[in-house]
Amino acid sequence: MKFNELGLNKDLLQAVKDLGYVETSEIQSKAIPPILNGKDVLGLAQTGTGKTAAFALPTIQNLMKNHKKGKRKIRSLVLAPTRELAIQVYDSFKAYSKYTPLKTAVIYGGVGQGAQVRSLQQGVDILVATPGRLFDLKHQGFVNLGSVEVFILDEADRMLDMGFINDIKKTIHYLPDEKQSLLFSATMPKEINEIVEEIMDEPVHVAVTPVSSTVDKISQDVYFVDKENKISLLIDVIKKEEYKSFLIFTRTKRNADKVSKALSKNGIKSQAIHGDKSQNARQRALNEFKAYKIQTLVATDIAARGIDVDELDYVINYELPEEAETYVHRIGRTGRKGQDGASISFCSYSEIPLLKDIERLIKKKINVIHDHNYPLENKTVPKKGRGNKARGQQSTQTTNKRKRQPNRSSEKGQGKKDGRTDRQGNRNKSSKGKRRNDKKKQLGPYDWSNHKPKKKNNRKR
Ligand code: AMP
Repeated sequence: MKFNELGLNKDLLQAVKDLGYVETSEIQSKAIPPILNGKDVLGLAQTGTGKTAAFALPTIQNLMKNHKKGKRKIRSLVLAPTRELAIQVYDSFKAYSKYTPLKTAVIYGGVGQGAQVRSLQQGVDILVATPGRLFDLKHQGFVNLGSVEVFILDEADRMLDMGFINDIKKTIHYLPDEKQSLLFSATMPKEINEIVEEIMDEPVHVAVTPVSSTVDKISQDVYFVDKENKISLLIDVIKKEEYKSFLIFTRTKRNADKVSKALSKNGIKSQAIHGDKSQNARQRALNEFKAYKIQTLVATDIAARGIDVDELDYVINYELPEEAETYVHRIGRTGRKGQDGASISFCSYSEIPLLKDIERLIKKKINVIHDHNYPLENKTVPKKGRGNKARGQQSTQTTNKRKRQPNRSSEKGQGKKDGRTDRQGNRNKSSKGKRRNDKKKQLGPYDWSNHKPKKKNNRKR
């Protein structure tokens, strides 16, 4: 569908034309008409589908209908879970409203409040905010939400995951009863219904790209590799694609730093972004990555939320996520704007159940790359229970740092069993203090028929 078939005015059509958009995305063609009509809209769409324009374009047009000269009031509030997403949404509103007199501001934590307060004092029509800074500035008297006509909750599921449910409820309390509400989310956990019931009036439901269907244009490969060989494999993979950009996901902040340091040591320019980094450091890293000054960006899931990089070549799942849906969000960073994208996952033996969960969710098998230098040798699973923080984490490991020699098959490598002493050593060490039963099963090749699927989706993080 073309943008001019949606009832958008010429200022907005020119703005999207300037950005090079030709056809609308599915969420845009479905959500823009009801939003223009003033309806509440509940949109099920993940990042990369064009959802920001889907809510921003009609909101700008609606606000323009009653735009008056004089002192500006906050007429639209967009709540976003992370600073990165807030900045991205702000940039989009600014780009789409560039031929209108509307003013947009963004407020988020982790930086000084001076500049944000000044922009609020100058008057804004659209405010994009993360919850913490919003309340902070509200309590200091710099934000008045009494004139909000359009309330937008972006990535609502991520808000809940990050523990913002009370902040959302608090925000709703500050807003006028009479308003248009738009809620966008990649998934619809049941807590969202509670919010929907509270704020929405017969919402129009629009759904695109269910989270279980990964974008077809993204290739998906998996390498089976021991945890301790992942760095070496990563370096191999990146060095083969010298001119490509890589967004690498780890599960923890510590690992993000570790991987980024290891890459830098090996001559691959890299930065890590995660919640412990200052906002300025995160933004700097992101800018360098976007400008191709660094080839790799290593990120945790929360920090990466909202990263919008055009022409990202690869997403690498250095560690598989605990939640299969997170995998879909991660790989959705590549293959944007209808381009081809590529994703690579590194899977150790203990992560195989996570891989199985992902394949069940996306309803397809991920292509296995057998030909690489670090084939899986350690087929040891830790005993479940104390000491194992996550299903995919191993409490002890064998040492398998040996690079495969030409003509040596993985079976031969495994036959050497040089890790046995290590395993014994580890067991002795770990039995210090409390008796921990570290007995591990030595298994043969993975037998899918033995795999017990995860029964319940444990959303705890
Ligand atoms: P979003 O899902 O809102 O994060 O958007 C993902 C990316 O798609 C952003 O880089 C947008 O600028 C871009 N985009 C949004 N709508 C379109 C469109 N109709 N055509 C081309 N690119 C688009």
